[in-house]
Amino acid sequence: MIQCPKCGAQNPAYARECVYCNTALVRPELTGATAALRDQLLGMSLGAEDFNTICFALDIDWHPFAEMEDEAGKVEMMVRQLEDQGRVTEAARFLYDFRFPQGYPPLPQPPADNLYLTYVYACQNVQSLDQLQKLVEQIGINDATQLPGAAVPHKIREAIWVARRANALPQVHDWLRTLKPDQPLQRPNIRERRSRVQTPPSLNQQEDLFGAQNL
Ligand SMILES: [Zn+2]
Repeated sequence: MIQCPKCGAQNPAYARECVYCNTALVRPELTGATAALRDQLLGMSLGAEDFNTICFALDIDWHPFAEMEDEAGKVEMMVRQLEDQGRVTEAARFLYDFRFPQGYPPLPQPPADNLYLTYVYACQNVQSLDQLQKLVEQIGINDATQLPGAAVPHKIREAIWVARRANALPQVHDWLRTLKPDQPLQRPNIRERRSRVQTPPSLNQQEDLFGAQNL
């Protein structure tokens, strides 16, 4: 927690301004694994939609970040939130293997227990607004065009976020199972998957093993 120097209110450790009086708060510098996670994210040069997708994949609500204009500020606040939740190591490992949806070939079926892979599967198999309309009807949304976002994948992300909160993911799964992808799952090879982000220090040994196998 950070105490506001002006009004004395307690603010979360990741806050940039006092939530009560908007006074700028002095926060401690990020260090160690948290600073490394920030640098890892900044190294990915995320656009606004990429950033939202990463938040979604990490099960963090991205909507509050929408008002912030600077990428570095968004990244830092997200990293501080993860630090607050004790999730820095988990997030670093997740990003190490992270691919945006277009990087995955179709999955054989939507995994029922994974929010992000459900999204990946939906992005690969729901291409048109007509299909998206059928998906959102499973959640009780009347008009898919009213969902935020310009492109179909952005709207899918919003719809699946709503579905999870409404406990309607099973209905979405049932509908997604009716789609038959053309090709089975083939994950990208390990070198390709890991080219975008740096190796977290805790995985160095594993990487050496994988690296040796790929020679
Ligand atoms: Zn204050």
